[in-house]
Amino acid sequence: MPIDATLPYDEQNIFAKILRGDIPATRVYEDEWAIAIRDIAPQAPTHILVIPRGAYVSWDDFSTRGSEAEIAGFVRAVGAVARAEGLVEPGYRLLANIGAHGGQEVPHLHVHLFGGAPLGPMLA
Ligand code: 5GP
Repeated sequence: MPIDATLPYDEQNIFAKILRGDIPATRVYEDEWAIAIRDIAPQAPTHILVIPRGAYVSWDDFSTRGSEAEIAGFVRAVGAVARAEGLVEPGYRLLANIGAHGGQEVPHLHVHLFGGAPLGPMLA
C-alpha cells in the first residue's frame, strides 16, 4: 500500500528497524552515511536498496532537510555500492519511488539499484 510521504517519520518502519539491527537483512555495504541491503523480493538479478542512515521519509524530505554532508555522503554511497557490485560496466539502473503516485511502500528514503542483466526500457 503506497504511503503518504508527507507524514512525519515513523520510527517503526521496516528500514528503521533494519538500520537499528532490530530485524535482520543482508547488508552488502555500509558506511557513515548509508547502508545497502539486498531486496527481499528481487526484481532483477541484482536488486539492492541503498538507505541513508538519517530519518528521512522520502526524497523530498531528504533533499529539503538533509545536510550537505548527508546528501553528498548518500550519493557517494550509492555509487560505491554499484562499484562494489561490479555494475559500473555494463551498467545499472537507479530508481526512487516517492509518495503515493510513485508507489513508495516503505516510509524511509531508499534508492533501488538494479543490475546484472539488460533491464529493458523501464521497470514498472
Ligand atoms: P518501495 O516501493 O517503498 O520503493 O520499495 C520497498 C522495497 O522494500 C520493495 O522492493 C520490497 O521488496 C522491499 N522490502 C520490504 N520489506 C523488506 C524487508 O523486510 N527486507 C528487505 N531486504 N527488503 C524489503
